Amino acid sequence: MLDTEQLRASIRTVPDFPKPGIQFRDISTLLANPAALHTSVTLLAREVRSSGATLVAGMEARGFIFGAAVAIEAGVGFVPIRKPGKLPVETIGVDYALEYGSDRLEIDPGAIDPGDKVALVDDLIATGGTALAATQLVRMTSADVATALFVVDLPDLGGATRLRNAGISVTSLLSFE
Ligand code: 5GP
Repeated sequence: MLDTEQLRASIRTVPDFPKPGIQFRDISTLLANPAALHTSVTLLAREVRSSGATLVAGMEARGFIFGAAVAIEAGVGFVPIRKPGKLPVETIGVDYALEYGSDRLEIDPGAIDPGDKVALVDDLIATGGTALAATQLVRMTSADVATALFVVDLPDLGGATRLRNAGISVTSLLSFE
């Protein structure tokens, strides 16, 4: 297991991506580092277990990578929260605002039971728009969001605070100011 500083060092910062002025926190270098990947999945799976979650839901696309691994480690199932038009069944969806324009997330409502307690998993939380939309979707199925888990938090963008204000416990392994 790596300590926090070693885990932090496994993440690459790419300036001016996807546009000038943005410092993109690139988790590909963490994924390629076996100790960093193992540490991240182990720590997030611990949170899934202690939250009592019965299911992990991961947001497309990087949330699929961590979410599926964490679900296996925690011994629960995995549900993908997808971009529009990808699921082959009738979906429920939520539109949410981005800095410029809007986006949409969809799930297969049949994949979640009303009594499920869902752990949301994504690589990173910034403004929290994605995680709040995912929360709304899960709640539309009458299931509960037990917790929301991220490898990286960007606290200056306020997403974790927004989620906590919506009554959700939030855990991140690292934060980048
Ligand atoms: P939010 O909706 O919280 O503003 O943005 C979080 C979403 O955008 C996550 O799904 C995350 O994958 C992606 N994202 C935004 N900024 C970054 C970044 O710097 N690095 C990575 N890896 N993902 C980001």
